[in-house]
Amino acid sequence: QDKSRTLGEAVAQWAADTPDAVALRHGDVTVDWRTYDENATQIANGLAALGLKKGDRVAYLGKNSARVCQLLMGTARAGMVLVPAIWRLAAAEVSTILGESESGVLFVEPLFESQAFEGPRIVMDERFDEWVARQSAAPVTTEVDRGDVFLQLYTSGTTGVPKGVMLTHRNATVLRPIVEQELPGWFSSQPGDTLIHAMPFGHIAGAGSVTGAANAGQQLIVHSEFDPGLIIRDIQQYGAKQAFLAPAALAMLLDHPDAKDADFSKLEGMAYGASPIPLDLLQRGVERLGCDFAQMYGMTETYGTVVYLGPEDHRAGCERVMRSAGKALPGVEIRILDEDGEPLPPGAIGEVAIHSPTNMAGYWKKPEETARVLSADGWMRTGDAGILDEDGYLFIQDRIKDMIISGGENVYPAEVESALYGHPDIADVAVIGVPDERWGEAVKAVVVRRPGADLDAGGVIAWAREKIAGFKCPKSVDFIDVLPRNPSGKILRRELRAPHWEGRDRQVN
Ligand code: ATP
Ligand code: MG
Repeated sequence: QDKSRTLGEAVAQWAADTPDAVALRHGDVTVDWRTYDENATQIANGLAALGLKKGDRVAYLGKNSARVCQLLMGTARAGMVLVPAIWRLAAAEVSTILGESESGVLFVEPLFESQAFEGPRIVMDERFDEWVARQSAAPVTTEVDRGDVFLQLYTSGTTGVPKGVMLTHRNATVLRPIVEQELPGWFSSQPGDTLIHAMPFGHIAGAGSVTGAANAGQQLIVHSEFDPGLIIRDIQQYGAKQAFLAPAALAMLLDHPDAKDADFSKLEGMAYGASPIPLDLLQRGVERLGCDFAQMYGMTETYGTVVYLGPEDHRAGCERVMRSAGKALPGVEIRILDEDGEPLPPGAIGEVAIHSPTNMAGYWKKPEETARVLSADGWMRTGDAGILDEDGYLFIQDRIKDMIISGGENVYPAEVESALYGHPDIADVAVIGVPDERWGEAVKAVVVRRPGADLDAGGVIAWAREKIAGFKCPKSVDFIDVLPRNPSGKILRRELRAPHWEGRDRQVN
């Protein structure tokens, strides 16, 4: 039975139950649930007054803010679709997203005001506040259905051009009540809990925390962007209870000078996900922060988390289990498929497929791509290689597109990276396949040394030989100052690979 509701209903409920509780905190600005709800109505009416209709698209270009959270709830209440562009992308990429979205209006932060856009625009400063205040507060009469799309998010563009993912009210609200009821080990979800929101709004980790907090009546401490020093400050100042960070961000937090003497005792839970986490980093985090940890696995196409490794499994400290992404959430099923799309038995490696009520409605304007990944019976192919064990634990190996085939053996870069990451002189590392006459592809490590470290290729290879099988060890090593990452903190292996493959075709499965 589908007990989900629309997002507009979720906000209205908290406005009725806890009108004066703080819903959003951003710098000096606080927004209570009553205001959150009233502003959503005024924004919805304002969009209609601009001539937009149900199903129309509304573009956003900017960082995280209390204003954009309100804009999201306003578009949702109006039955429209918010399309956030990732501000960190190049101007040309932003223009492509805005253009193909066919949005009727652009909401833009002053910093990006020069962005070209055909159509009306509203600047997200006092001008936005004044615009909202001018709109009618009459109840919105548009009928919004749970199956309506309200958000179009772009994938991170790790393996190719970002794709627009159409997400519905049901996607955003359906899992939470099931999970809260059936999974006692689920992260605290008490109304009023404070959560740090520092991942980019344009990605599922960011927008998902906004809708998640609206579902659960929690307070979001909004950060314009990820800043480890500010997170450390807010954990202490506001007693922030929870945060979600990508592994690269967690590493920056732990390495920050303020982390040394900080008091993390109020932090109850740290969730992480979005890319594989090296075991070493996870253990360091658990030790230093001393709070509950939970891993989330999911993607834009599944509205974020569908697989979960909870605090108990972290506390038990079993290394094998800590290398897992966790088990399917209640209401979610996992299958491992062979190359023909047939299910494989436990223990076999193949493509991870997900069946979940949070699976997307489809890719925007990409019907062929949609048909390729989403089957008629609701299974989504993830493009990730993984293993499901007898107990239901999922072990993500890596992206299928990044798998290296060397001398007929499959090598998953994430495993090699995780082994190398434990080296005391290695600050960061990526592993790629480069063309090789003899092996087809050879494993190459691209390493960022810790400042002052005296480490050469021989040292890297010798370390790997002690940790992993010979065929997985790098045959060559490059040193680099900083690894290319996308705004989600994911290593862009395709960029590192490109110069080595110039003029050749790399076979991908
Ligand atoms: P694109 O689809 O454009 O290449 P992307 O897949 O990186 O980009 P997202 O939807 O933001 O875009 O990311 C989802 C992917 O992130 C997953 O398919 C998986 O590869 C990776 N991922 C997410 N969570 C985890 C996790 N806990 N462990 C390992 N990998 C993860
Ligand atoms: Mg993807």
